[in-house]
Amino acid sequence: GDVRRPDTDVAGLAAGIRAGERAVLARAITLVESRKPEHQAKARDLLQELLADSGRSLRIGITGVPGVGKSTTIDQFGTNLTAAGHKVAVLAVDPSSTRTGGSILGDKTRMARLAVDPNAYVRPSPSAGTLGGVAARTRETMLLCEAAGFDVILVETVGVGQSETTVAEMVDFFLVLMLPGAGDELQGIKKGILEVADMIAVNKADGDGALRARASASEYRAALHILGAGTPDWTPPVVTISGLANEGLDVVWSEIERYRDVTVRSGRFDARRRDQQVHWMREMILTRFRDRLDRDPALRDANRRLEADVRAGRLSASLAAAEIAAMLGM
Ligand code: GDP
Repeated sequence: GDVRRPDTDVAGLAAGIRAGERAVLARAITLVESRKPEHQAKARDLLQELLADSGRSLRIGITGVPGVGKSTTIDQFGTNLTAAGHKVAVLAVDPSSTRTGGSILGDKTRMARLAVDPNAYVRPSPSAGTLGGVAARTRETMLLCEAAGFDVILVETVGVGQSETTVAEMVDFFLVLMLPGAGDELQGIKKGILEVADMIAVNKADGDGALRARASASEYRAALHILGAGTPDWTPPVVTISGLANEGLDVVWSEIERYRDVTVRSGRFDARRRDQQVHWMREMILTRFRDRLDRDPALRDANRRLEADVRAGRLSASLAAAEIAAMLGM
């Protein structure tokens, strides 16, 4: 069982978060991550209470395959930002943690400098539940961090499965890190990831890697062009960087700022956030339906019986679904 007993004093938590108290922020995140229905109800009250205080940050998603240099780059990039006066929160959506119980992202030891930076907050991925559930809790944690005064939120995820499109639904800007590689590697890149990229940064463009990184960048530029990626106001730039040597990260930041300026002016920045709000509302409705299906004893029994009938070929899938829907009053 869970030995951490979350603080459920909503007014006290809200006041402490607004005052930027890290210990209170950590307790509030524990509440948001709890799966107990009574904690979830309190977490909803807290998020509603802080609604007007959240939203004032730049939300940046960062993805890439394991080994591309996410933690190295985020540690350096975040350190550059805190040195420039920003307050940086690093959150993670790690789908592997839901299967294995072990997280490959968001581990504080992976970001040694940010972990001890008073102007940074590093939080590992919530570990229980589906990708959608993990992402929903990370998104709520992001809102808490904003209310606590963090003005740059970095949401890290591994470029496998569906997690990058899920994270793209909660950020303003999506940065894809790539390894320098030949054309055959490009073939293996999922089209989906290029479609959600607002910028591609080819990492490890240092030493022997510099030339190959520049060649890769040209190939990614061509691939984005062929895909027709981007919008009328934004063509995703492709840059080369070295997270290790702190090269090109200033360009990454200036491009992100340029993106914000351009899309705020065109109205697309706010439109994207509004669309995301509605997206999450729909996701949460579906999550509640699924939870009820899993938790309500009568529904669970009926579901088990009907699944067996469908599996055995005695009942059509559509009729079985209709029976469950009828139990839900539909
Ligand atoms: P992650 O799995 O994406 O978080 O990748 P890491 O940040 O753990 O980096 C994986 C390996 O690549 C480590 O050995 C890093 O030192 C190395 N690495 C990361 N960034 C760079 C870079 O810009 N240049 C070079 N040469 N190596 C890097």
